[in-house]
Formats: sequence, structure tokens, C-alpha cells
Amino acid sequence: MTTLEAARQGLITDLMRQAATHEGIEPELLRARIADGTAIICKNRKRQNGTPLAVGKGMRTKINANIGTSKDDTSIDKELEKARVAVTAGADAIMDLSTGGPVDEIRRAIIAETEACIGSVPLYQAALDAVNRQKKAIVDMTVEDIFAGIIKHLDDGVDFITVHCGVTRATVERMDREGRIMDVVSRGGSFTVEWMAHNQAENPLFEHYDRLLEIVKPYDAVLSLGDGFRPGCLADATDRAQIHELILLGELTQRAWEAGIQVMIEGPGHVPLNQIEANIQLQKRLCHGAPFYVLGPLVTDIAPGYDHITCAIGGTLAAAAGADFLCYVTPSEHLRLPTVEDVHEGVMASRIAAHAADIVKNVPGAIDKDIAMARCRKELDWEGQFALALDPEKARRLRAESGVDEEHGACTMCGEFCAYKVMNDRRAKQANS
Ligand code: SF4
Repeated sequence: MTTLEAARQGLITDLMRQAATHEGIEPELLRARIADGTAIICKNRKRQNGTPLAVGKGMRTKINANIGTSKDDTSIDKELEKARVAVTAGADAIMDLSTGGPVDEIRRAIIAETEACIGSVPLYQAALDAVNRQKKAIVDMTVEDIFAGIIKHLDDGVDFITVHCGVTRATVERMDREGRIMDVVSRGGSFTVEWMAHNQAENPLFEHYDRLLEIVKPYDAVLSLGDGFRPGCLADATDRAQIHELILLGELTQRAWEAGIQVMIEGPGHVPLNQIEANIQLQKRLCHGAPFYVLGPLVTDIAPGYDHITCAIGGTLAAAAGADFLCYVTPSEHLRLPTVEDVHEGVMASRIAAHAADIVKNVPGAIDKDIAMARCRKELDWEGQFALALDPEKARRLRAESGVDEEHGACTMCGEFCAYKVMNDRRAKQANS
């Protein structure tokens, strides 16, 4: 029986208990949310390690860090270091998007390395296997190659797989009719569009969706329905192709639920600030409340080098409006494969977004740390501030670099004119008079 089937029968499984404990909520609440599809637990039954991760309504907003090799940089060690840094910085999930070097070895090493939830895009595997082993072009991969890639990833223990099932010939026609600046910017989406055009055939993951559901079921893994038509620039946001795909994903969500499989929906992309809330409402309405996993959204196209910030701005608004899972973006987005330092910066930016949104969402305990931080600031309690900081190491380092380390002293910003000190002295005088 899958987690969704158990939840529907009113059963609280060990997995639900573990995930609820981790989340700090009652197992019954998590069960009820899983039963109605508004929450999921990411945990592949085949995985030996790994903490079950609850995502969805009423849960803390989760963070994903994308890592993985490319043809230009195939170092396993670097990717493992990125996985470690991402988790230490607070990422809840890691997506391995490797497309260069020994990708099977890399994926397995990342899974073994971390307790964090792991996601992947098996279509990359099929494309790579077609090109590298069978000496074919991506468009020559067969339907069997595609399903073999999915099985391989699930067998390795990947907890959620991104599948671009909503990239259909009808959606491509809509995109072509309407016209877009950036066309398709999703890697999996572009492979699929190219494959359909070359083979004059429908997307196998759409056409053989029931087969996909049958394959996924024994693993109890989560289907992350990918957004192949996510906008790659502000001008393409919320257009017909994007919304048509979302309508299809809503229909596919219901079919997955009927088969007892948990689902989340992936979302944009590049979206102007004033369209973000509407995008969340549309997804929740069209996909029946299924958890929403957004990449960004990036709120401007002109800040290369700072896209972790454009992402955090959009991510905050998206999560506050109901998005459940944020995929980070690093400062290297649109420029290069991220470095270890970029991974750290990206995770921190997304954590800030998630936490800011969780305060608005009334996630239990979210505001408590902020209140504690305010008290520590007022008392100039630096150790207390470092302990509460999202990035304690950086906070400690910046203060140390200023050359001031007096335990309850001011900082170099205002020195003797420190407002906290002035007010604390005033209170002390009042207390003594
Ligand atoms: S010196 Fe200024 S910036 Fe520094 S702690 Fe005091 S009030 Fe804050």
C-alpha cells in the first residue's frame, strides 16, 4: 500500500509519524493532508538512508538545491562537496541534475552522502544513455530508453522524479501560435519538444502516463510534474502555453491520485512581481491543492550575478501566497555551473525567502526566532545573535573582521552613538532613580 492509499484509509504509518515529528506537527494532521493531496512525503521505499520530507499545506516551506555535473565539469568530489554545503546551509532537498561524466556513479554517491531528500530528472539519463552508450542523438532515444532511465533512478532510491508529462504537441502548437521570446527553457522540456518534432509523435510520458504510474507505485516515490513551458523571461510569463500545461498537469494529478501516487507540481520561472500571486492561485485551483514547487520565481531578467536575490524576492512572495517548496537559484544562474560558494549563497537566499514567508503563513514557531533575535539585539548579546542567525558563521566572521569583539559592546556602525546602548542606559538610569 502506498503512503497516499494508507492516508486515505485513515492509517497513520511510521513514515507519517517520522515526517510529522520532523515537522513538529501532529501525525493525524499530516495524514489528513496527504489523504486530500495537499501534502506529500518524499521518501522512496528503496532508499536505505534519508529523512522522510513532508511538503505541503501548513508545513514549513522547503528548500531544494540543484547540483550536478555538466560536460565541462565532471568532478564527483565537487558535487559531493556541494551536496554537503547545501545541507549544512539548510537545504531540505538536493536535485542531482548531472549531465556529464559518470552520472550513475555521481547520483549514487550523492544519495549515499546525504540524509536529505533527493530528486532527479530521469529524462537526462535516457538522453545521455542514448548519446553516450548507443551513439544515437537525443531525438533517437526510444520510449523504452525513457522508461529505463526512470526505473534506474527509482531503483537507486531517488525520492522524487521530475517528469515533463504536460509537454504535449498541443501545448507546443499553442506556444508557436502565440509566439514567445525564449521558447522552451526547461532542459527536459526542450528535449521533449525536439523529440516530438523529430519523431512526429506525442510525448511518451503523456501518452503512456498509466505505465509511468505503474512503474512509480512500488517505490512510493513522488511524481514531480515538471513545467516544461515555464517562462524563461518576464515577457513570456503566464502565457497560453504555460497555462495550458498547468491545466494538463491538474488532470494528470487526479489520475496519479486515483492510482495512489503522491504528486507535486513544478512552477515558474521568470514572473513579474504582480503576477506571482495569481500564478500560485491558478496552480492551487487547477491542480486541486497539490503542493507547488517553484523555481524562483525570478522577478527581473537583468540581474545576472545576483539571481539568487531576484529568486529570493519572487520566492518570498510565492511562498507567502501558498507555494510549498522553493528551488534555489545561485548567483551563477544563466552564467556558469555554480561553485561550492554559489551553492551556499543560493541556499541562504532561499532560506531567507522561505522563513519570511513562513512568518506570514503562521507556520508554528516561525516568528519565535525573530522575537528572540530582537531581544538579543537589544541586549547587544552577540553570542545569542550568532546562535539565532540563519548563517551564524558569516555573522560571526563579519563582526570579528570589524576588529570589535567586546562581549556586550556596540558595533562599528554607530560606536558610542549605538541607539541600543543609549536606550539601555536610559532604562538603567530610570530603574536606579
Ligand atoms: S552600533 Fe548601531 S548598528 Fe551597531 S548594534 Fe548599535 S545600533 Fe546597531
